[in-house]
Amino acid sequence: MSRPTPRPSPTELPFYEACARGELTLQHCEPCDRFLFYPRTHCDHCHNPTLNWRRVSGKGTIVSYTVVRRAVSEAFTAPYVIALIDLVEGPRMMSQIVDTKPEALAVGQSVSVAFEAWSDDIKLPVFKLHGVLGK
Ligand SMILES: [Zn+2]
Repeated sequence: MSRPTPRPSPTELPFYEACARGELTLQHCEPCDRFLFYPRTHCDHCHNPTLNWRRVSGKGTIVSYTVVRRAVSEAFTAPYVIALIDLVEGPRMMSQIVDTKPEALAVGQSVSVAFEAWSDDIKLPVFKLHGVLGK
């Protein structure tokens, strides 16, 4: 069984194209000087329809997480960790924490983005504990 993959809308496509290149990008609203996530057609604060894609650091902090011990389908291997991550640029993102035993995780830890191939053309951002990259 294969994992479900996103089918990006035109608004979301630049996000997934950047992920395929190994880059995390977010929309930025100039009048508000804010980054936005998830991708949208207008700023959710000032309704500005001209949002610019910018590459961001991919660094953030775990604000909450849960350990999934019973996978949602046979396509997933439990246990795995789903977390809420506050990116240093502001937006909160839900993603997976990989390459770390769940017991080693804690709220407040620093994480960095990595990318995982989910299909031939879709890569998704996941996060790893900062400072343990490459281990
Ligand atoms: Zn705005």
